[in-house]
Amino acid sequence: MTKCRVCSNYIKPFFSLGDIPLVNLFLTKEGLKKKEAEYDLTVGFCNKCYLVQLMKTISPKDLFENYIYFSSTSQTIIDHSRSNAEYFTRRFNLNKKNLVVEIASNDGVQLDFFQQLGIRILGIDPAKNIAALANKKSIKTLPEFFNLALAKKLNKKGLRADLIFGANVLAHVPKIVDFVKGVRTLLKINGTAIFEFPYIRGLLENKFDTIYHEHVFYYSLIALRNLFESVDLELYDVDLVDMQGGSLRIYVSHPNSFKISKNVTKLVKKELDLGFNKLSTYNVLNKNINILKKDLIKLLNDIKTKNKHVAVYSAPAKGNILMNYFGIDSKLVDFIVDRAKEKQGLYTPGTHMQVFPVEKIYQEEPDYLLILCWNIYKEVIEQLKEYQKNGGKFIIPIPKIRII
Ligand SMILES: [Zn+2]
Repeated sequence: MTKCRVCSNYIKPFFSLGDIPLVNLFLTKEGLKKKEAEYDLTVGFCNKCYLVQLMKTISPKDLFENYIYFSSTSQTIIDHSRSNAEYFTRRFNLNKKNLVVEIASNDGVQLDFFQQLGIRILGIDPAKNIAALANKKSIKTLPEFFNLALAKKLNKKGLRADLIFGANVLAHVPKIVDFVKGVRTLLKINGTAIFEFPYIRGLLENKFDTIYHEHVFYYSLIALRNLFESVDLELYDVDLVDMQGGSLRIYVSHPNSFKISKNVTKLVKKELDLGFNKLSTYNVLNKNINILKKDLIKLLNDIKTKNKHVAVYSAPAKGNILMNYFGIDSKLVDFIVDRAKEKQGLYTPGTHMQVFPVEKIYQEEPDYLLILCWNIYKEVIEQLKEYQKNGGKFIIPIPKIRII
């Protein structure tokens, strides 16, 4: 029995991937000899505050201190960060007197754009290796976990933020109530905290590969409103953004600082119409994902039977979830490539395939590329025009299987 991390009600499981290794922990050749640790991945629903969350979690210390995900390897993220910095600066009239704090600032790709606009910045990221890299690029970054204690420490130094930003962090923090209390403490009275994270609607559209150990929470707007209300903060606006396969961007302030936008009331109504407050809505995931799994395996087997070859493009966390849960490994696909140098030469978690540089596609010329970073497939196809010109085809597995 697991209790809701926000309201302490018992949560009910509705979809399980079983035991899966940590999908961001790539292995060395030496590491392949040891038995890999696997952890249960089951999601459940709280019928009191509507929050969807993992039944079991792993200590964030084990997950994030040696992270190998670098934001700035993706052009989509760079472009999105630039447009965010410009938009927020305009919307909130930010200038050199204002302070923007980013939580989970990674290698500083977002803060760099704010800094270029002349605004004061501070990054916070627990991955010591990545924080060091950001500092080297003059993006001031504290190598720490953000929580209430850290917010109080920053307050004592006289720091309060006009804008707090966090992309893909709200879903990652098991002690979320302490985290949002920290946000309230660090946020100026007229300040705004903005968070972006994958929207739970994606789960119901087959985007199940966002379920991994780092993602403790899968948010609907109705659940988030309850969360922020519980610490005396107010969610006053929301946008849908086209990141990570469909994300929400929410705007949070101290109560009554801003007018509540119609966007909020509209989306709340839509969620209630879609049944985001009911367990039965989430149960459909089991049937849908099993159909997807069967279809993709059949496609890969058919290709193999015709003596054609498939390689895998990129090994993001979500891709490793798909490969592990669907059982896709070297028996079905020839090899795997990834642009991130940090992953090349290492082996994928669970499926143990060596990661090669992208150039291998041009040496081996596989007939198909299975794109596991399906959320940025257009960017990938653009980069691989030459491969496509030579007759190469792309398989996009999610939200439905497509061959391009
Ligand atoms: Zn709850």
